[in-house]
Amino acid sequence: MNHQFDLIVVGAGSGGYAAARTARELGASVALVDRGPLGGLCILRGCMPSKTLIATGDLAHEIRNAAELGVHAGAPAVDPDTEYLLWQTLVGAWLARALVPRRPSAASEDPGR
Ligand SMILES: Cc1cc2nc3c(=O)[nH]c(=O)nc-3n(C[C@H](O)[C@H](O)[C@H](O)COP(=O)(O)OP(=O)(O)OC[C@H]3O[C@@H](n4cnc5c(N)ncnc54)[C@H](O)[C@@H]3O)c2cc1C
Repeated sequence: MNHQFDLIVVGAGSGGYAAARTARELGASVALVDRGPLGGLCILRGCMPSKTLIATGDLAHEIRNAAELGVHAGAPAVDPDTEYLLWQTLVGAWLARALVPRRPSAASEDPGR
C-alpha cells in the first residue's frame, strides 16, 4: 500500500501534533507517525497525569483539614483506580479533540524510518 503526503511528522507529542495540525490547516496532506501511543510525554506521562494527581492531592488535603473551618468530613480515602480512570478519561478527551475534528490526513503508531 503506497501513500503520498506533503509532510510526514515524526512524533505525536505536543510538538508533533501542533506541527501536523498547523500544516493541515494550511492545506497540506499530513501523516503523523509515532513509535508509541499517540500523545507523547505531556498527555501520557507528564502534564495530564501529574495535574490529575495534584488536583486529587489538593482535594484530599482540603478535606483532611476541613475541620479547621468547622466542616467535619472524616479522613479522605484516595482510590487509585478512580484516579487512573479520571486520567484515562482526560487522555481520551484529548485524543478525541485533537485527532477527530481536525484530523491530519493519517495518524499511525508505526515507528518513523
Ligand atoms: C511530570 C511532567 C509534567 C509536565 N507538565 C507540563 C505542564 O504542565 N505544561 C507544559 O507545558 N509542559 C509540561 N511538561 C513538559 C511537556 O510534557 C513537554 O514539554 C512536552 O511533552 C514536549 O513535547 P514534544 O512533542 O516535544 O515531545 P514528546 O511529548 O516527548 O513527544 C515526542 C514523541 O515522539 C515519539 N518519537 C520519538 N522518536 C521517534 C521515532 N524515531 N519514531 C517515531 N516516533 C518517535 C515519541 O514516542 C513521543 O510520542 C511536563 C513534563 C513532565 C515530565
